[in-house]
Formats: sequence, C-alpha cells, structure tokens
Amino acid sequence: MLIQENIELSKYNSFGCKATASYFCTVKRKDEIDEAISWCTHQNKPYLLLGGGSNILFTKDFKGLIIKMEIKGIKLLKETPSEVLISVGAGENWHLLVKYCVQKGWGGIENLSLIPGTVGAAPIQNIGAYGVEAKDSIQAITAFDTHTNKWVVLQNKDCHFDYRNSLFKQEKNRYIITEVQFSLQKQPTLHTDYGAIREVLHNKQIKQASIEDISNAIIEIRTAKLPDPLVLGNAGSFFKNPTVSIEQYNQLKQSHTDLIAFPISDTQYKLAAGWLIEQAGWKGKKKGPVGCYEKQALVIVNYAQASGKEIFDFSEEIIQSVQSQFGIQLEREVNIV
Ligand SMILES: Cc1cc2nc3c(=O)[nH]c(=O)nc-3n(C[C@H](O)[C@H](O)[C@H](O)COP(=O)(O)OP(=O)(O)OC[C@H]3O[C@@H](n4cnc5c(N)ncnc54)[C@H](O)[C@@H]3O)c2cc1C
Repeated sequence: MLIQENIELSKYNSFGCKATASYFCTVKRKDEIDEAISWCTHQNKPYLLLGGGSNILFTKDFKGLIIKMEIKGIKLLKETPSEVLISVGAGENWHLLVKYCVQKGWGGIENLSLIPGTVGAAPIQNIGAYGVEAKDSIQAITAFDTHTNKWVVLQNKDCHFDYRNSLFKQEKNRYIITEVQFSLQKQPTLHTDYGAIREVLHNKQIKQASIEDISNAIIEIRTAKLPDPLVLGNAGSFFKNPTVSIEQYNQLKQSHTDLIAFPISDTQYKLAAGWLIEQAGWKGKKKGPVGCYEKQALVIVNYAQASGKEIFDFSEEIIQSVQSQFGIQLEREVNIV
C-alpha cells in the first residue's frame, strides 16, 4: 500500500477548501485497513477516514494519515420473492448504488437519490431525506474496531441510529466501515408524503408512481434546490434541525406564529433550522468569499476559494445570531477537522 506525503486536499472535499494531509493512502481491500492502522500505531500518527469528502470541513492541515475509502463491490447475499439482501463495499458511490437498486426494482433507498458521498459514510450520520433514513434499510455493518483491533459485524440495533447520528458519530473514529448490508423490498411502501414530491408527480400526471418515478422526482427537486458542489463548494445542510421541549416550542410559537416545526414525540418538537437562519437574516447573505445559499438557508457556500477557517467562522456567526434572536443553539451537521 502506497503512503504519499503532503497531499493537497481541495479536490477531496466538496467545499473545495485547501488543506494539506501529511500522509495519504487509498484502500481498496480490507487487509489494507489493518496495514494502514498498524502504520499509524507504529508512527504514532492520527488517522482520518475519508469517503467523498461531502460532509467534512478542513479548517487546518491534517498532521496524520488520511485513509481514502475505495473498497468496491455489490454482492447479492439473499433473494426471496419479496426482498433482497445485498452487501456493498464502503467505497461505492452512494447515488450510483441508489440508481443500481432502482434499476433492479429494489425499493427502500430511492428517496435518498442524489446524496453525494460513499456508501461507507451513509451510516455515520444516518443520511436522510424526504422522510427516509439510511437506517430504514441497513441490516448490518462490517467494520474494523480500532479500540480492540478486531473486525466486527454490527447489526442495525447495535448502531444506535438516530436523527443524523449513530454509534459511529458518537464514538468518532473508532470504527472503520468497510461493508454495509441493505435489506431492500421488491414491493416497497413508497414515501411520497412530501409536498414537493407529490407536486412533481402531479405535474407529470403520474398516478401510480414507481420507485423510479420517485427517484427521478427527487433528483429534479434536489437539482433545483441545492447547489452542485462541482460548481459551488458546499456540504449540503451545514446545521441540524434542533430539538426543543414542547414548552419551548409553545413559547416560540406565541411570538413567531409562522414558526416551522413538527412534533417528534409527546414532549419534543423539531424546529426547521433553515427557517431560524432565514428569520435571523442570513439567507442569501455573503461575507467575502463565504455565503448562505439564496435558495436554502441551511447551506453554506464557498463562493470564491474561502478557507475552511473562514467558512467555520461564518457558521459561528450564524450560530451566535440564532442564539441571540431565538435562544436556540444550532449544532453543526458537518464534520469539522
Ligand atoms: C449537495 C449536498 C447535498 C447533501 N444532502 C444530504 C442529505 O440530503 N442528507 C444527508 O444526510 N446528507 C446530505 N449531504 C451530506 C453528505 O452527502 C453525506 O453526509 C454523505 O454520507 C457523506 O459521504 P462522504 O463519503 O462524502 O463522507 P465524508 O465527507 O468523506 O466523511 C464524513 C464523515 O464520515 C467519516 N467516514 C467516511 N467514510 C467512513 C468509513 N468508511 N468508515 C468510518 N468513517 C467514515 C469521515 O471521517 C467523516 O467524519 C449532502 C452533501 C452535499 C454536498
């Protein structure tokens, strides 16, 4: 396995921010993971897993080994008249996997069309969109546990999946995911509850939607709403939607009748972070090379070679401003390095 030195990372992150990795390698096989980790142990260097770099902000150089995940392969493990179980290499591109499954008629992840990045990163923050999360289809995960130096297979229930959260995010850097097993349905329940999906299907006069129709609708909606990282550097939603108590929700609703929020339990509400940011006056605002996207306030954009530090500072200003206006602390969704 080749370990390169002083690699510039701007083409490896969707913000396009400059930073240098002291060491860099790509892994195409599981045994190369053992090799990379043992190299770090002997050299006493930290390591960082990298997939497509679409949920990461480099605010400084990385003085260790970047391990770029490129383990490929899609295997059919089991097929019954109603479902399939597939195992997918962590380095496969997420959207290409979705397209592959849609073409085969296997439903479950079509609402997650066009999310950038790799399959191995999908469980990390339990990617989600349009009423569906990766956890709904993940059966098991193969990972190298760097605390015990052993390979483990974690079942769905062991992964502590939650909204943009999982065991892998809580125990940062402990597990290196190499394979994800998905259970997909041949007669899936379709998720078309979102107004935007219904609108596209209606406009196309589709009454009995297929998973392909849903995937196409979502691609259309996302293309219109979100900036393409190849054109404008970004990492999708920069912040999570905050959770508040029902009391806090009621208080806010009194002073802001147009507050966008939805109940998630008998005692808690989730607030739309995009709405809070927009109300605080940030939507479409630019500061030097960084800005808040004009069509979606949750997205921070690198307009002109901003550094990771400039983007981070901009996000900090948004957090402070929402805090002082609403008393709500926003949490970053993007991984800060
Ligand atoms: C335009 C745009 C739209 C987006 N829309 C959505 C959306 O709708 N929903 C959503 O949830 N996300 C969205 N995202 C965020 C992003 O696409 C996802 O979080 C995606 O899963 C990141 O994959 P990646 O391979 O690029 O991960 P990276 O950015 O490379 O890594 C993310 C984190 O996972 C760790 N990691 C990566 N691979 C592994 C591995 N194999 N084992 C262990 N740790 C690993 C990294 O160390 C890092 O901490 C969007 C991003 C963009 C740019």
